[in-house]
Amino acid sequence: MQHAPQPTAALSPLQHAFQHAETSCIQCGFCLPTCPTYRLTGQEAASPRGRIDLMQAVADGDLPVHEIAAQLDFCLGCRACETACPAGVEFGKLLEAGRAEVRDSQSGFHLGAWLQRWCLEELLPSPALVQQGAGFLHGYQASGLQHMLRASGLLRLLPPRLAAMEALLPPVPALAARRPVAADTAPAPPEQGQVALLTGCIMPAFLPEVNQATVQVLAANGYRVHVPTSQRCCGALQAHTGALESARHLARQTITAFAATDAEWIVVNSAGCGAMLKAYGHLLQDDQAFASRAAAFSQRVRDVSEVLTEAPLRQPLLPVPLRVAYDDPCHLMHGQQIRQPPRALLQQIPGLTLLTVPESDWCCGSAGIYNLLHPDTAQTLLARKLAHLASVAPQLIVTGNPGCMLQLRQGVAQQGLAVEVRHPVEVLAWAYGAGAGVREQFPAAT
Ligand code: SF4
Ligand code: SF4
Repeated sequence: MQHAPQPTAALSPLQHAFQHAETSCIQCGFCLPTCPTYRLTGQEAASPRGRIDLMQAVADGDLPVHEIAAQLDFCLGCRACETACPAGVEFGKLLEAGRAEVRDSQSGFHLGAWLQRWCLEELLPSPALVQQGAGFLHGYQASGLQHMLRASGLLRLLPPRLAAMEALLPPVPALAARRPVAADTAPAPPEQGQVALLTGCIMPAFLPEVNQATVQVLAANGYRVHVPTSQRCCGALQAHTGALESARHLARQTITAFAATDAEWIVVNSAGCGAMLKAYGHLLQDDQAFASRAAAFSQRVRDVSEVLTEAPLRQPLLPVPLRVAYDDPCHLMHGQQIRQPPRALLQQIPGLTLLTVPESDWCCGSAGIYNLLHPDTAQTLLARKLAHLASVAPQLIVTGNPGCMLQLRQGVAQQGLAVEVRHPVEVLAWAYGAGAGVREQFPAAT
């Protein structure tokens, strides 16, 4: 049921979202087979169509918001339903509004919820705190304490979410390896253009080699790479959990941090962050001071694979003679509709065999912090993903999102598979001769 438009300030997040939605659900059900939570449960309420009905009922005042909290929480936010939808329903925006409404309705103190908010709203936006945390975790691993606790079985006594967090922990690099990428990197001539790189909140501490490879490959292809030093977390994880005010604050900070550069493109190597940056125009549409800046900013955002496929990769490229399985990050495939560019880049590397993986467009269970909130469902999806990946016998799995990389690394380790998980730009960097590259990682392949 459509209500007469009300002033924006008087609307709840869901009322605002439905009133400003450009399209409506036509109840066709085309999205149902692509929805992991529907496929797992067979319940309409756990499907995109069912969730839209629930959210519409709340917006219409026919249902109290706490009644839909569990179903919105159970949703992965993978946005596979958007790719399948013939009506163009932007489910991700509805979900964020629904979660914001649930969040606004909650009262009282819950330790788990407080901890989650502290991590999202205090820890991640602070590079110094993230680096301190990484230092602590590096010490936990390097001292042998992690190995001892894992072997003792004591970690099984942890609450499930904390245990899931511990299990996901990648080997944390030492301080020397966590050095920031240069603020300005000159291109290989002739200069192709200028880009500004979003380095992310987690990547510099836990996967620094991805940012280093991104800079190297962009520079090798003629791009001058600027890295604004005042950038912070982009707000993606906050928005996905319904902390929209926190996400808006971080979006304003990010736009301001990048304002000093007149680079043609803002380049992102994390699918979730890229989808967020491209949605800043929507996120800040009611902010009079930032709305037009946010819309213009979003127009300049590109995934690194989009930039690098503007022209054929520059030569020379060394052979990377590996069987490679590419897995689509949901926020690249469904959130940005980018499927072919990463594949096109990998296919230009001599000797590389790109494998076709069944269900490569299905969620791996990472889904932001879903694997911490719903470890059982995340593990079920991870097992399904690993079975498909293992079926093509890869030597290397690549995917362009840090959360997916950590999730898949955990699955590979659990199953004892002899396969690495890397970002596509790392493979490109090997082809440009980065470090010992493929020779160090895969001595048998060269
Ligand atoms: S976002 Fe993913 S899990 Fe959620 S309703 Fe859509 S397809 Fe299902
Ligand atoms: S595919 Fe789109 S229009 Fe059809 S039921 Fe799903 S959300 Fe609604």
